[in-house]
Amino acid sequence: MTQSKFECPACGHPAPVYDHGRKRIWRHLHFFQYEAYLHARLPRTDCSKCNGPPKTKKPNWASERSCFSVYFEVFV
Ligand SMILES: [Zn+2]
Repeated sequence: MTQSKFECPACGHPAPVYDHGRKRIWRHLHFFQYEAYLHARLPRTDCSKCNGPPKTKKPNWASERSCFSVYFEVFV
């Protein structure tokens, strides 16, 4: 069985998954008249090249420390 790998957020080297961090929630655009939220646990990589603590993969739907999706931020 092959292990999933992601690009290390720090150096870009392919790194195995360490774990999936805590569950995070982002506010997204309304779905019809209902509020919508994105729920996800982002993978953390264990990079042998960086040799530091596990690093959380950055979501491509939100800024790094934001709790709003990019579409929601543009709309507001
Ligand atoms: Zn790295």
